Amino acid sequence: MTDAQMLSAPIVVSAGAATDVGLRRRINEDSMLAQHPVFLVADGMGGHEAGEVASAAALAAFQPLVGLPSARVEDVVGVIDLARHSVDALAGGPSGGAGTTLTGVVVSQHGGDGYWLVVNLGDSRTYRLAGGALEQISVDHSVVQELVDAGELTPEEAATAVDRNVITRALGAGSDEDADFWMLPAAQGDRMLICSDGLSGEVDAATIREILSTLPDPQAAAERLVLQALANGGRDNVTAVVVDALAVVQHDPMDTLPRASDRDADRGSDDELDADTVPRKTPRSRPERGDRR
Ligand code: MN
Repeated sequence: MTDAQMLSAPIVVSAGAATDVGLRRRINEDSMLAQHPVFLVADGMGGHEAGEVASAAALAAFQPLVGLPSARVEDVVGVIDLARHSVDALAGGPSGGAGTTLTGVVVSQHGGDGYWLVVNLGDSRTYRLAGGALEQISVDHSVVQELVDAGELTPEEAATAVDRNVITRALGAGSDEDADFWMLPAAQGDRMLICSDGLSGEVDAATIREILSTLPDPQAAAERLVLQALANGGRDNVTAVVVDALAVVQHDPMDTLPRASDRDADRGSDDELDADTVPRKTPRSRPERGDRR
């Protein structure tokens, strides 16, 4: 970014990113993008390197946003449409096999104030560390998450279920489901983590929180998270992007202090843009990531 863009950015960030093929896979099908204002991870699926190409194609669609001070939800919705066409074209049509997850944060603003625009399709994850607490913002689009929502599985059972890799939404892979979006008021000191399931499947949340809490440099934190996933088995490709809010534009002087009590309110339905407005369709097909463990 130029200095002028930096000055006009609603959130000034510092970011780090790391990825590794893992210990069992031959190809890294994860892709990542960490350039202001877009910080994303995509986990590709489909054999014969198709997953690698799909995840890279999805993130390439976001390049027009790189260098902007911020982006709006409409911009991101438009880019996701283009990304979906790119991935579908790779597979030879919407019913083809290649696909990818997509999650992350886009620096955004509302009324001039800095907001994290969180996006998700699939089972890669976006977390926020704030006030020492780690919170998963994205909600997995997976069969086991649906069973958890229905009260038929506990989160602990879901973490080890044999079909935990079956996702219910994706870009490509025969899915036409919409992404979920959240608009979260940003605060100085927020640390966002965007990761593939090769991290969240290998490293428990308490360890992720501890690593994020003890390494101030975002690049060091991202690299340490990836190393921990390898130490725990590295059964999948593993990717971590860490984004720190160094400064946040907030016009209301009452908002300049950390608002721990407001954080819970932030998670209310107002912030999930489509939870109540987009009907939850039953997907015609469930993209199955058969090449995963
Ligand atoms: Mn994966």
